[in-house]
Amino acid sequence: MGFVPAIVVGSDTPRKQKSETSGISKKRAINRIKQGPRQKVGDVEDLLTYLYQKDKRNKWVTDEKEISRFQHTLLEWYKKNRRQLPWRQTLMEGQPNPYHIWVSETMLQQTRVTNVIGYYKKWLQTFPDIPSLAASSLERVNEIWAGLGYYRRAKLLHEGAQTIMSRFDGKVPEDIKVLQSIPGIGPYTSAAIASIAFNKPYAVCDGNVFRVLSRLFSIDLDISSTDNQSLFRSLAQFLMFKEMAADYNQAMMELGATVCTPKSFDCNHCPVQRWCNSFQIANEHQVPLSDIVCQFPVKSSRVKQNEEELLVYLIKFANHFLMLKNISRNLLGNLWHFPYVIWKRNGNTMTEEEKIQHECCLVGVLHSCGYPLNDTNGLPKLLHESAIPIGQVEHLFTHIKQIIHVKFVCVSSETKLVIESSSRRIGGVGPNDDSIEYRWLTEEQMEKSAISRQMMKVMELYQKQKKQKVIHSFFC
Ligand code: SF4
Repeated sequence: MGFVPAIVVGSDTPRKQKSETSGISKKRAINRIKQGPRQKVGDVEDLLTYLYQKDKRNKWVTDEKEISRFQHTLLEWYKKNRRQLPWRQTLMEGQPNPYHIWVSETMLQQTRVTNVIGYYKKWLQTFPDIPSLAASSLERVNEIWAGLGYYRRAKLLHEGAQTIMSRFDGKVPEDIKVLQSIPGIGPYTSAAIASIAFNKPYAVCDGNVFRVLSRLFSIDLDISSTDNQSLFRSLAQFLMFKEMAADYNQAMMELGATVCTPKSFDCNHCPVQRWCNSFQIANEHQVPLSDIVCQFPVKSSRVKQNEEELLVYLIKFANHFLMLKNISRNLLGNLWHFPYVIWKRNGNTMTEEEKIQHECCLVGVLHSCGYPLNDTNGLPKLLHESAIPIGQVEHLFTHIKQIIHVKFVCVSSETKLVIESSSRRIGGVGPNDDSIEYRWLTEEQMEKSAISRQMMKVMELYQKQKKQKVIHSFFC
């Protein structure tokens, strides 16, 4: 590896201008170091200069042999310490399956490894290959994904599989740019598939890698900025061992996931501690490691989180619960949910008029099931007077915190409601004249249906309260 290979910032592809061992590039970088950092860190050369000027301990990044030692130490550690994860099975067998890598990388976005393992196994049992996924219905895909959250990922995997069938004869392409033309495969996932499945020399930069790099070099650049993220990617690309891209990328991510973790980092057992600036600073100044290590990565502007309060109605009739599916786009995507109204958003309470509009949606659905509406007060009475508050649950999306107040409504067995075995769709209901699909499901049927995670939490609350006899059989 040369001193400073020119890298296009924000791109996965190394520039072709100079050879990697170009002396001109090296001289230019040394001159840059003498001049001091520019006010704005613009590309990877700037970044290396910046790192060197900031702290001479970072000098090793300008030494080809030292970089090689770093890479080999990391790879050795990874070989001995990698976790036996199900998506690594085909890699260990020497026949990497790009479909497996694609599914696991998609599931692992925003989700913990421990949560993903069970879903990954179930997914592969149901959709063992791309043709089976492409041929499935979206409903079935959502059922298998149900509970994992961020349902758009499942929909995009499904669309991606159909694209691979129609355009690439069922084979995952190796080229990173071609990969990025497939729905749901962006720069991160394409680099992961290309490097891990096909050993192509593209660095993969997830949150773990950002953290490791920022601590290794004590980089105090804010990773909330997309420009700085590009620089981190360029640095990751610069440091990577191109001949063993698959293992190297996984080793970096594994280090961040198991040793250089956000809070319980284990510097004393870290294979790369002798190259770690944060570790050395703490030792030299004899300060607790956490005083230094916890400063990285720098993330100034955390994403502002909105807060919503929902009122969810568990409407039960003859052992069935009323479930809806909003055909319009919303956070719950194409999933079944209990009827709900968002009655507060960021502290602003819904007006009485808006509330009535939302309830009209329920009126439409219940009327369609045969609920008598000759008494105009019938539905509000059912919702307001017969509804028993049974508690609340919380659910977090990336940008939204939901507080869900749950009310249980038991429809009297004397009411003549029609429960059909399949779903029905009605249009022109609710505040936006939405199309609503509805179904009555038993608890057993719910377990096999595509239901959002927060609605599962609502059901778990109901079951807990029933067990503790907060909800008596008297009520329903
Ligand atoms: S020595 Fe500590 S801070 Fe540095 S990379 Fe290792 S675990 Fe992270």
